[in-house]
Amino acid sequence: MKIREILQRGEKSFSFEFFPPKNYSSILELGINVGQLIKLSPSFVSVTYGAGGSNQDASFNLIDYINNKIGLITMAHYTCVNATKEKVARDLDFFHEKNIENLILLRGDPPKGESEFINKGGDFHHASDLIDFAAKQNRFCIAAAGYPEAHPESIDLDSDIAHLKNKVAMGADFIVTQLFFDNAYYYDYVARARKAGVTVPIVPGIMPITNFTQIKKFTKMIGAKIPEALVHQLEPYQDDLAKTYEIGVEFAIRQCRELLDNGAPGLHFYTLNKSRATVDIFSSIK
Ligand code: FAD
Repeated sequence: MKIREILQRGEKSFSFEFFPPKNYSSILELGINVGQLIKLSPSFVSVTYGAGGSNQDASFNLIDYINNKIGLITMAHYTCVNATKEKVARDLDFFHEKNIENLILLRGDPPKGESEFINKGGDFHHASDLIDFAAKQNRFCIAAAGYPEAHPESIDLDSDIAHLKNKVAMGADFIVTQLFFDNAYYYDYVARARKAGVTVPIVPGIMPITNFTQIKKFTKMIGAKIPEALVHQLEPYQDDLAKTYEIGVEFAIRQCRELLDNGAPGLHFYTLNKSRATVDIFSSIK
């Protein structure tokens, strides 16, 4: 099923994101956690592609398995960093042959070890080029990425919104946002997008804080801010994972409830291949 049909029906979509595991223990961990999360009957699940230098075949194998062996509605992440048109055409054929109907199409992060994106002979410069290419095939429901606190490379939020609008003009059916912790950024982003003429659903991305040291590093990298009040709450418990979990999950529950009450079309959870926090949040907001 195409995710846009779920969103068009006005149903809230609840989705979980996974990444391909790299070794046996993480395969086992993912299996256990997918098992827990399936019980929540998600609207769809997604599998990242090439993020952090992960293996692209593993991503294809995992999305194929979840779609065709487990039978969940899936959305494959797919990036065009340095890819040729021939490669992309082959990969899109793979998704079609495997009945994977939903794709989130991205430019992609710079390859591992490089901090800046420099196109090395690829046919696609921006995600909008990839979206245009795939949308013309008329086979997929397409999502694109949005950045409530602006993409780290963008000049400002307005130019970022103009590029978002272009991604929708090229064929994106809905947007999934980068994670954020202050809902004000999301509300402002949606308002600006609507004013610019972007009418498609904008699904907020949620990452529960379960490890303060990790999240500080990650938010710095993607240009997201942790609200001062939350930092003050978490800081005294840097080394206390149980207390961090309690604070992080309680915060996420409030954040999710507020987003849904204020009209968010659903929630997309960055699960980091773990299930406990998402299960606790989900049970509390459903
Ligand atoms: P783009 O939309 O191309 O934007 C990149 C930058 O270029 C922005 O600053 C934008 O403002 C600017 N821009 C866009 N169009 C133009 C234009 N025409 N002219 C000038 N500037 C322009 N990465 C992975 O590697 N694998 C994944 O699986 C993955 N999944 C993700 C899922 C979500 C929901 C999100 C939010 C991000 C994900 N990412 C993933 C990260 C993403 O690849 C990076 O954020 C990347 O740096 C930008 O991708 P994009 O698709 O937003 O690019």
